[in-house]
Amino acid sequence: MVAFLSRAGRDTKQKQRSQTPSLPLFLCNTLSDLTEHFEPRNSSSVTMYTCGPTVYDYVHIGNMRAYVFADILKRTLGYNGFAVNHTINITDFGHLTDDADAGEDKVMLALQRSGKPINLENMRAVTSVFAEAFKEDMDAIGNLPPSQYTRASDYVGEQIALIRTLVEKGYTYRTRDGIYFDISRFPAYGRLGNINLAAQKEGARIETNPEKKHPADFALWKFGELGWDSVWGKGFPGWHIECTAMAFATLGKQIDIHTGGIDHIATHHNGEIAQAESATGKSPYVRYWMHGEFITIDATKISKSLRNGITLRQLRDRGYSPLEYRYWLLTGHYKSPMNFTFEALDGAKQALFRLKRFVVEGCARESGGTCADGVVIESYREQFHHAINNNLDTPRALALIWELVKDTKYPLPDKAATIKHFDAVFGLRVSDISENEMRSLNVIEVSDLPDEVQKLLSEREHARKRKDWDGADALREAINLKGYLVEDTPKGVRVTKA
Ligand code: AMP
Ligand code: ZN
Repeated sequence: MVAFLSRAGRDTKQKQRSQTPSLPLFLCNTLSDLTEHFEPRNSSSVTMYTCGPTVYDYVHIGNMRAYVFADILKRTLGYNGFAVNHTINITDFGHLTDDADAGEDKVMLALQRSGKPINLENMRAVTSVFAEAFKEDMDAIGNLPPSQYTRASDYVGEQIALIRTLVEKGYTYRTRDGIYFDISRFPAYGRLGNINLAAQKEGARIETNPEKKHPADFALWKFGELGWDSVWGKGFPGWHIECTAMAFATLGKQIDIHTGGIDHIATHHNGEIAQAESATGKSPYVRYWMHGEFITIDATKISKSLRNGITLRQLRDRGYSPLEYRYWLLTGHYKSPMNFTFEALDGAKQALFRLKRFVVEGCARESGGTCADGVVIESYREQFHHAINNNLDTPRALALIWELVKDTKYPLPDKAATIKHFDAVFGLRVSDISENEMRSLNVIEVSDLPDEVQKLLSEREHARKRKDWDGADALREAINLKGYLVEDTPKGVRVTKA
């Protein structure tokens, strides 16, 4: 653990703290639409559920925003001293293209595309490929593994038991294609996100199941040839019930935080609340609902079903690392929509590289790369803590890093140690340098050079333009004496550490 530098000055390095000082944590709760002081049910540990992907294809960069947001939240909870029990589910059957139980079964489509015989075993095999790829992507983008990944097909028994409870308590009705939850039995339905149910009823499309009493009634069990046996007939559980059943099984009947993308608010999460609270009679099912905004590409919605999403693999093929994409994500607040462009990603790539170079140099200088001699600068640490505790304000926290880089009051090793300390929340792996990066590590941006060297460099450029070669050589010498090497390349001047 790195030491903290007290505000009194750097001479009091011995004033170390082993724990992050406490500060209230504020999070925006979709349920109240307010930024609330976060207080978990149990004072030291937090239960958190994140709606995971439907694994009929590789996840795209839009999906990854939802998981980076959840990861920053989890890291922030950890930074504030909470232990987190975190579940991310993997939907590996039956999520229909339309959240409201219409459209095609996306997993079934993937199974058909694979050309394999249609059975549960092959469905598991096809989805396993994408489930494993998802876990790899999660690691590559710097997300900490959850306490458990739960696959929906491993929890069918729990889902059936939960549906049974709802049937027995009279919350359901049967139609020709399944067992439905009757939202008229749960008056709070639609409270999350203030959904206008009357408008939904008026605007309902004709092709939705005409046997449904209300368009927002949702399937708990869908009959189908491919599926599991149940007292209601062969079929498979609805999408909403899987999340509630797995949250109950792994975290308990009432949990602290539930995350997802904003598209989950209207249907999926209102469905979850209705099922959970009807089954248990306990409210609230979830204390803090948190939702991340969407990424667009060229101002167009990304969607796995539209197949217009870019994957992390495709970014890699174009020479970008998933962590560079993570950096770009952190430049926006999770509640603001972001538009992805490769120009913006180039900026993030460059910024992350500069940050790594700064940390590697700062840490290497005094302590052989460990940062052990660096001291976390308390005034910056405090500002950082305020930023992330203010509803995960990562843009402010990142801006603070660059203020720190420029701040001449502190020695390089302390600045590097402070940035490394912040990385416990950013997860950018700032001290992991690839061989390629190491090679170009010594190259220094002109804007990062000390002012006096920048001045000499510009004088040398003028001398070269005047064809005053002796003058240019003398200036090169002068720059060398300051500890920098100058090289003229076809792309312009290249400056490295001597
Ligand atoms: P899905 O596999 O479609 O259920 O989506 C998985 C997660 O990605 C959910 O939390 C969605 O809300 C989220 N998501 C989907 N598309 C985007 C997008 N374009 N931007 C941000 N999050 C998204
Ligand atoms: Zn879910």
